[in-house]
Amino acid sequence: MRRPYLSALLLVALATPAFAQGEVNVYSSRHYDTDDSLYKTFEESTGIKVNRIEDDANVLIERMTSEGELGAADVFITVDAGRIGRADLAGLLQPLNSDIIDEKVAPELRSPDDHWTAISTRARAIFYDKASVENPPQTYQDLADPKYEGMICTRSSSNVYNLSLLGSIIAHDGEDAARAWAEGLKNNLARDPQGGDTDQLRGIVSGECQIAIANHYYFARAFRSEVSGLTEGLDKIGVVFPNQETTGTHVNISAAGIAKYAPNVDNARAFIEYLLTPTAQELIANGNDEFPVVEGVEPAPEVTQLGSFRRDELNVGSFAMNGDVAQRIFNEVGYR
Ligand code: FE
Repeated sequence: MRRPYLSALLLVALATPAFAQGEVNVYSSRHYDTDDSLYKTFEESTGIKVNRIEDDANVLIERMTSEGELGAADVFITVDAGRIGRADLAGLLQPLNSDIIDEKVAPELRSPDDHWTAISTRARAIFYDKASVENPPQTYQDLADPKYEGMICTRSSSNVYNLSLLGSIIAHDGEDAARAWAEGLKNNLARDPQGGDTDQLRGIVSGECQIAIANHYYFARAFRSEVSGLTEGLDKIGVVFPNQETTGTHVNISAAGIAKYAPNVDNARAFIEYLLTPTAQELIANGNDEFPVVEGVEPAPEVTQLGSFRRDELNVGSFAMNGDVAQRIFNEVGYR
């Protein structure tokens, strides 16, 4: 006798991450080569099985929203504070309640409501053609100076990295100054915004741009492995970590939080605490050439060689929440 409902149940069981004790369901928009060892080390040291669901952050946010109280997500991991900020605004996270996290991670790298924490950081830096730019911009504000007209390449305004950068300028200087900056930057562009951060750096090598804005790791990784159109021209490119005399360089984060309806809250907390151990920090930071958030752990040599800098100590939460205002301002000034 056929029992179709049983096979249907079995299918559901196989397709759904388990709710049982001894497991943790990680929804992550990060996927790097080192992630396998990262998860495996946690499983071996705790006996807690990690079920990974990896997808684009917005897809995961939609999934968690539609799953609601019946959701399987325990931990949500994403890159860029703007994205975890979106999840938080959507009510998808709960307090971390961890003394270990509070002790290990600087307060400005955690959300003020204790709903997420940084697990690594990335700097938004200025790159320039050493041969043609004698006085490169030393601040984000300089990028709007008419003397750089027609020289700058950066990606589209809808990209979350640019939204977070403008979000930080809004938080520091207010909306009017942020609008003037966005307009000045738009007027200095060498071409219509296009491509990813690597493409802006390639623009310097090809001569299409003299100045580019990009996250530091897109540059660092090209020293380690061949990036077409970039690695061969690395020695042409100089790097500036901006705003050293003023607010410090804008840093963004990879972040983790506990899902609002996490079925395995204790395991979720244990997993995030594990992400802050020296072993995990090394794997996380080296997986994408990012900076560790825990003291005593060194970044990769490709990153260290870029030089040290002072980071902006504005709470990442304050620009994570400014994404919508930032997009409106970019639209108002006609920055595509
Ligand atoms: Fe990136």
